Amino acid sequence: MDKENKEWAGENVWKNGDGILESKKPVRLPEAVGEIIRRLGRAGFEAYAVGGCVRDSLLGRTPSDWDITTSARPEEVKRLFERTVDTGLVHGTVTVLWRGSGYEVTTYRVDGEYEDGRHPKEVSFTGELGEDLRRRDFTINAMAYNEERGLVDVFGGQEDLKRGVIRCVGDPDERFGEDALRIMRAVRFSAQLGFSIEKKTREAMRGHAVYLEKVSAERIQVELTKLVTSPHPDYLRIAWETGITRIILPEFDRLMELPQNNPHHCYCVGEHTLHAMKAAPADKCLRLAMLYHDFGKAECHTRDERGIDHFYGHAKAGSEIARRVQRRLRYDNETTDRVCALVYWHDYRIEPDIRAVRRAISRVGPKLFPFLMQVKRADLEAQSDYQRQEKSDWLLQLEELAHRIEAQGDCLTLKELAVDGRDLMEAGRKPGPGLGRTLQMLLEMVLEEPSRNTKEYLLANLPKET
Ligand code: ATP
Ligand code: MG
Repeated sequence: MDKENKEWAGENVWKNGDGILESKKPVRLPEAVGEIIRRLGRAGFEAYAVGGCVRDSLLGRTPSDWDITTSARPEEVKRLFERTVDTGLVHGTVTVLWRGSGYEVTTYRVDGEYEDGRHPKEVSFTGELGEDLRRRDFTINAMAYNEERGLVDVFGGQEDLKRGVIRCVGDPDERFGEDALRIMRAVRFSAQLGFSIEKKTREAMRGHAVYLEKVSAERIQVELTKLVTSPHPDYLRIAWETGITRIILPEFDRLMELPQNNPHHCYCVGEHTLHAMKAAPADKCLRLAMLYHDFGKAECHTRDERGIDHFYGHAKAGSEIARRVQRRLRYDNETTDRVCALVYWHDYRIEPDIRAVRRAISRVGPKLFPFLMQVKRADLEAQSDYQRQEKSDWLLQLEELAHRIEAQGDCLTLKELAVDGRDLMEAGRKPGPGLGRTLQMLLEMVLEEPSRNTKEYLLANLPKET
């Protein structure tokens, strides 16, 4: 288990007559959640905080959102609260708006089989909390809490939290058979919490991984993003070992079989990728860029007469593969463009010279450039020790030059150029695509020497028309 998870909050735990583990005050409910639960209680219904918020509270983490489960039907919830949104009435979910925030209140339910969507095909409501907890994926996610009854833990969730184990509620084969996405969720929770996956659960994952084919790309994307931005993105290895990536990311499996006989590397491409992800800050675009950065190596592999492997052109090839994968997983265009640009430029060899760095920033884009430096650093950290110091010094030099360029406020883009198309036409140039080419040449002149960025200088030194 992670160091930060060692702190155990649920101290006063005992077993009641039903063998249900209960504990009085391990969870501190936010005021709004407490009030919603109490109001439901006064109206004669049961209501509990449930799932992720209970798990995170027990781990001493701040929950990202609070879900409430209740014996009240959606109509009854709507009647009790002034402002509600019909989030998913057929699935029993009503969002209660309370002082500017929304809280999902869901009726106790028993799920049917899941379809290729975000929700099960059919659900039926039940009056039993136990039934509702039974439909949940993992023991650590199947606990409920309210102030009156304390913690309700029917499946040993606290014990699994203590031991750092992801384990299915009930029979793993059945649970993964109902919804294959749970296989990916097992890996992402394990990566988020630094937990191991219990043996039977893990074996069942391997058996059901192929059914991820039937799960929608949108749902897979959510889990993949949570996995790669977690404290353990390298747990993607578990997804590989259990046959998950073979279905959702076969491009990665090829890398796990691709050695690199090259002094710069000590891992196969796949292992290098896992280490590189871990070495990058936990930002979505950076981590995805590290995931894809060497995807082009599989198709660009050559071996020279000395037996050394080379991967010429792999950055460009990788950015094209990355775009296909991002489309397949239905990522938004903005994320995809940034990620693919980072993959495209990741191997850009920039001379530690202020002119070269200015040109590089201009080409890559001033906003993206600092991210590119982080990509390069993460890439380097996942390589062998060969020339490590030199490569690290080189990156530091680039960063220092980039800072200096920024501090000087040097012109780096066409927008900042002292002349524009209109100025060129006033100076007698014909409208048309030639204008753009001329502006680009002027920018190159300014990147060489920033003091040239004045109208007088540039108009006096216009390049020949092309
Ligand atoms: P996060 O912190 O990422 O939101 P979470 O545990 O709250 O983690 P959600 O996806 O928000 O995860 O789901 C809320 C709860 O609903 C889970 O804790 C779990 O009890 C249940 N749940 C969600 N998805 C599934 C699923 N596919 N199968 C079974 N139970 C699920
Ligand atoms: Mg949640």
